[in-house]
Amino acid sequence: MTTPTLHPSIDNGIQPGSDDFAGGTLKCKCGSDPVEVTIKSQSAHNHVCGCTKCWKPKGSLLSMVAVVPRDSVSVTANEDRLAIVDESAAIQRYACKTCGVHMYGRIENTGHPFHGLDFIHTELSDDTGWSAPEFAAFVSSVIEGGYPADGMDDVRARLRVLGLEPYDCLSPPLMDVIATHAFKSA
Ligand SMILES: [Zn+2]
Ligand SMILES: [Zn+2]
Repeated sequence: MTTPTLHPSIDNGIQPGSDDFAGGTLKCKCGSDPVEVTIKSQSAHNHVCGCTKCWKPKGSLLSMVAVVPRDSVSVTANEDRLAIVDESAAIQRYACKTCGVHMYGRIENTGHPFHGLDFIHTELSDDTGWSAPEFAAFVSSVIEGGYPADGMDDVRARLRVLGLEPYDCLSPPLMDVIATHAFKSA
């Protein structure tokens, strides 16, 4: 089998998070005067994602995305360069207009199961200790992004070697959160 490269933060093995980590600063990819977002919380539910909506670094097959409480997120430099990628999407992703990097994603619909959580890419931070990715979501969706379907066995096998169980939706605990929310609001 060939070893597919998946994402720079996991291809050489996964760095564990640290228990006493309490947040850091995210910077966009603009070489000078980047947009900065300060997070006053450890990340949770960090995972790699195969969907076509999450921001990913150039040449990367997967994105890496985590959540933090929305009140722990503040834009601390160059907020005027942020714009919402797609106003109609459930997650409003705020991207740097210059380099295109998504700095955070926010859900404004109070009826959404993940309302209150913002989505962030911890790889945009120089700080170490962010929670490590725990699983792989929406893996089959890389085919929608143009990846050959006959390469999927290798992708899933590689994810398992890295300890990231591949799912074609979210992980079972997160799917349970969504289903519980649906039941309670029905
Ligand atoms: Zn995604
Ligand atoms: Zn930028």
